[in-house]
Amino acid sequence: MKYPKRRDIIYYLLFASKKYVVTNTIVKNIYVKYKEKIDGLGLFGREFYLNTILSINASNKIRNIQRKTLLYKTKVEYGNWTINHIVGCMHGCKFPCYARMMARKFGWVKDDKDWLKPRLAENALDLLDKEIPKYKKEIDFVHLSFMTDPFMYDFKKKDLVPEIKKLTLDIIKKLNGESIKVTTLTKGFYPDEITNGGFLKNNEYGITLVSLNEKFKREYEPFSAPYELRISSLKKLHDAGLKTWVSLEPYPTPNLDEEAENIEQLLSKVGFVNKIIFGKLNYNVSSSNFLHNEDFYERIAGKVIKFCKENNIEFHIKLGTPLSRDATKNIFKN
Ligand code: SF4
Repeated sequence: MKYPKRRDIIYYLLFASKKYVVTNTIVKNIYVKYKEKIDGLGLFGREFYLNTILSINASNKIRNIQRKTLLYKTKVEYGNWTINHIVGCMHGCKFPCYARMMARKFGWVKDDKDWLKPRLAENALDLLDKEIPKYKKEIDFVHLSFMTDPFMYDFKKKDLVPEIKKLTLDIIKKLNGESIKVTTLTKGFYPDEITNGGFLKNNEYGITLVSLNEKFKREYEPFSAPYELRISSLKKLHDAGLKTWVSLEPYPTPNLDEEAENIEQLLSKVGFVNKIIFGKLNYNVSSSNFLHNEDFYERIAGKVIKFCKENNIEFHIKLGTPLSRDATKNIFKN
């Protein structure tokens, strides 16, 4: 059978079956293997291609909530003011996710499943109208977000969650309209709207990237955007003259990611960024029990520092991680 007809059948099967495992794993794997046989290996490997294939989607309409307040001062050492306009996160990281632990502790979500169903603060822009005049003088910059993801990736649809993307962009626009700089951090990817203008030039856009190992990703951040997509979207912003950064935190120990020792490979992929944050993995028992934990992090932090100095990249090693320095924590204040 010729390839196009075969493709039609595969897509028919994708939509015909309502079983997630059948559609999104078995059928997609058959399709990719067949495509490789015809076209050869893809540039970014099988995993990347798998993630770009259309998938069926269970109903995941984004729910709304009303918030009483929005802007607050963060205790994260390199942060300043911050906004979490979403409760929950579809990326389902298992490092574990600190935000999810807090959400459960304070009863913002019922359980881990509930955390995966984000709720959007529908009155976020109205709240900003009230809060910006109140706090503007105290604000150096606003970070989106430490307790959720502002460019959340829908793993089933292979795209950003449109409602979240829209609200995030509206929030950045509103803050920038008041001359307030914004920093962002995502395990999703950056949409083209960012480069189309209308935002402050001193905003700083970041991605979290702690591995290039697909096996590690499947286990610890299963529903985040593919590594290559994350990196290429950031590179686009850099090429458009915007400021970019990468958070190498929480960086795993080799007993969780056998490629962790080879941070050079990861660094070389993001060598175009302006700033790098590096930090160890906390709250993970296996990682803390890793026999040479302290030595390992000292060695890796040393490699990060060397790379940044050689490539003229500003850096901050998070406090509590070997080789950290208090002096670099205001990395985003300039
Ligand atoms: S992307 Fe961040 S907020 Fe979302 S699950 Fe992962 S660690 Fe938690």
